[in-house]
Amino acid sequence: MKPDNRIVCVTKCDEYSIEKIKISLEKLLNPLGGIKKFISKNDKVLIKPNMLSAHPPEKGVTTHPFFLQALIELILSVGGKPYIADSPAMPNFKSIIKRTRIKEISEKLGIPLKEISESVEVKNPHGFFKKIELGKDIFEVDKIINLARLKTHNLMILTLGIKNIFGVIPGRKKAEWHLKAGFNRILFAQLLLEIYYLVKPHLTIVDGIISMEGNGPSSGDLRHTGLLFAGVDAISVDRVISHAIGLNDRLFILKAAQKYNHLPKKFSEIQLKGIKSLDEIKIQNFELPSDIEKIAPSLSLPQAIARKFISKPKVLDRNCTLCGSCIEVCPVSAMHKSDKTVYIDYNKCVGCFCCQEICSFNAIRIKKSFLSTLLSKI
Ligand code: SF4
Ligand code: SF4
Repeated sequence: MKPDNRIVCVTKCDEYSIEKIKISLEKLLNPLGGIKKFISKNDKVLIKPNMLSAHPPEKGVTTHPFFLQALIELILSVGGKPYIADSPAMPNFKSIIKRTRIKEISEKLGIPLKEISESVEVKNPHGFFKKIELGKDIFEVDKIINLARLKTHNLMILTLGIKNIFGVIPGRKKAEWHLKAGFNRILFAQLLLEIYYLVKPHLTIVDGIISMEGNGPSSGDLRHTGLLFAGVDAISVDRVISHAIGLNDRLFILKAAQKYNHLPKKFSEIQLKGIKSLDEIKIQNFELPSDIEKIAPSLSLPQAIARKFISKPKVLDRNCTLCGSCIEVCPVSAMHKSDKTVYIDYNKCVGCFCCQEICSFNAIRIKKSFLSTLLSKI
């Protein structure tokens, strides 16, 4: 790993005010040489935000439009040509960009906003997954900036820099990948890493001004954490956040990174900039998704056994509008609806939580498995 890749910058930022974020971003990127180190005049820059589903900014699910505006203005200030691109799992891009107010920012600043829909097959001879279809857009730009949020994730524990890049897999193809990984979280983490290595964003920024705890990435509780993180290497960025939360190297992504020898042996090999030590930014009692998986080393068990450990989605009828999005996104067709409710066939469910991610009505909760409940008490 190049020495620069071991630098992770951290700075504080209290609120979603465009001016404050701009100042904080400048401060954040200073130790890396500032935005000019990454963006040259006329560079076409793809900003990959988090456009998971159709939620307003105050829900903390998607990239905050003011954060996007601040970053765009920074890129424009050095002559870059930014555009915003992402690929939500469902074909509802129009309603997502409207509800998240990202469309408003794009129109106000005259910046293109595009759904990643076309894909190209990329060979991955050294990886576990030998071919991966990635969004074509990422190969048509000079630079990629990965703009993630700090949130919990029922499948991966946290969604940070590496997980954000999964969005470059076009639309529903994401669900197919969930199916390939099945119950095995480490295998899915490995896929995420392989995608990350193929995409190689030039810079990763994680917005932790308001973070999401608990039932993330779309139905958790918001918590003011007031922090921004950045680095060239998203694995190091994610590692710093995982350590700040107290999860240390137990994040599945980091376990998969160990396989690649990508993790420096000691955390102390990461150079923290902007803070004197990790103690300054410790996030106490951060509520993780309530499940044994968060401490399980791997769920590469036979399916019948793994099924007993994993948490399951549960539909909350009083919130459900019967919109059917979860049914469409489920990779194993485990969901069906009547005129009153949505049913889940737990014998088919692989616990990918795509249904929970996609639900815009907070109607999918997580039901702990019996074994998971039992083991978490030991
Ligand atoms: S659970 Fe959510 S996504 Fe599924 S039908 Fe109900 S409201 Fe729609
Ligand atoms: S029911 Fe939900 S968690 Fe289960 S496989 Fe379908 S989308 Fe994934």
